[in-house]
Amino acid sequence: MDLIVRGGTVVTMDGARRVFENGAVAVKGGRIIAAGPLAEVERTYVAREIVNAGGKVIIPGIINGHTHVPMTLFRGLADDLDLQEWLTKYIFPAEAKNVTEEFVRVGARLGLAEMIRGGTTTFCDMYYFEDAIADESVKAGMRGVLGETIIDFPVADNKTNPEAMAYVESFVKKWQGNPLIIPAIAPHAPYTVSEEHLKAVRVFSDRTGAPIVTHISETKREVDESLKTKGATPIDYLNRIGFLNNRVIAAHVVWPSEEELGLLKKLGVGIVHNPQSNMKLASGVAPVPEMLKEDLPVGLGTDGAASNNDLNLWEEMDTAAKLHKVFSRDPKVVSAEEAFEMATIRGARALHLEKEIGSIEKGKRADLVVVDLDDLNQTPYYNIYSDLVYATKAADVRTVIIEGRVVMRDRRLLTLNEETIKADARRFRERIIRSIGAKTLPED
Ligand SMILES: [Zn+2]
Repeated sequence: MDLIVRGGTVVTMDGARRVFENGAVAVKGGRIIAAGPLAEVERTYVAREIVNAGGKVIIPGIINGHTHVPMTLFRGLADDLDLQEWLTKYIFPAEAKNVTEEFVRVGARLGLAEMIRGGTTTFCDMYYFEDAIADESVKAGMRGVLGETIIDFPVADNKTNPEAMAYVESFVKKWQGNPLIIPAIAPHAPYTVSEEHLKAVRVFSDRTGAPIVTHISETKREVDESLKTKGATPIDYLNRIGFLNNRVIAAHVVWPSEEELGLLKKLGVGIVHNPQSNMKLASGVAPVPEMLKEDLPVGLGTDGAASNNDLNLWEEMDTAAKLHKVFSRDPKVVSAEEAFEMATIRGARALHLEKEIGSIEKGKRADLVVVDLDDLNQTPYYNIYSDLVYATKAADVRTVIIEGRVVMRDRRLLTLNEETIKADARRFRERIIRSIGAKTLPED
């Protein structure tokens, strides 16, 4: 064996939801070879590297189902606005003036470091220069479903749709087959990409097998305008043009009808719920209890750090569980176990990766996270899911393993340099302030 993680409580998230108190996980060639009681695993296997997890909990790597990772550099740039105003007055102009390949690399490294520190081992991204994000992710040892953006106006890396389609063609060809990267195509939304271009995206995905990452039905306004201009809701419209299938990963889905949920289930569309982003932009409350009741593949995401303002899945789990309780005035909806599922195995289903990640099972990729279980905020401990979702913080994550490689040990990042990352990000802050005029920003 290459690695054995030993001695902790193993929360497998397998079909039977087995939990091994005093368990162990054996890893070889980036995959899980065995998971079970410590004595059993150690009787059968020896490894050259040991991670001691005694008194801690070993969980499947956390999945951030939706983000725009370089937007960490816009964290806190414009807050407390609605989506349209935030996008058109602040984010699109700031992006037009600042996004370069260097910006994307610096922002990606910042986001990757933040995610690894919080136990995220897979993220699903949509941005520009996605090839550079793939490169930074591989260097950091992070797994990613990475979608190059298609949008009907000139952006930093591609000025026209033919340019963007050519970019994504070579991007997908380059990264397909990499053990960490699943290259994808990411049409921004049905209101920013034409029908013709959406159809071309679907043809591209059918030909290459690349997943499609997109935003669907994020706000009521999007639904109303779609009804006005297209005579159909966004989901209805996308279905009518043959866009939806089991390679689509749809962020938000805040405003679907009951029939549309059935349609998404039938078509196998993955859904990513972003509770904090939806709350902060006042986009609405997605019908997550209904999605769970219908067993839809729904995961959790942070969305970009400009609208959240962090990449912390522990907060999203906690928020998801609580938001739906207060909204439905029913404390029984979205249990701690269900929220944890959404960040692990159900999140893997949302990304169409449930055969590879999302649980600690023989044959799956070795994405494992060791979390403290004895911090003050976790003491005493009665129920593992309740402790993880309601009491555990990102700072309780101790050690992170992705594809069998230790990328953080005892809270020290092994593949990224925190101090350099922070210095680079602060340099960009100066540039961004100058580019949009300092008057909208707080004093230094
Ligand atoms: Zn988004």
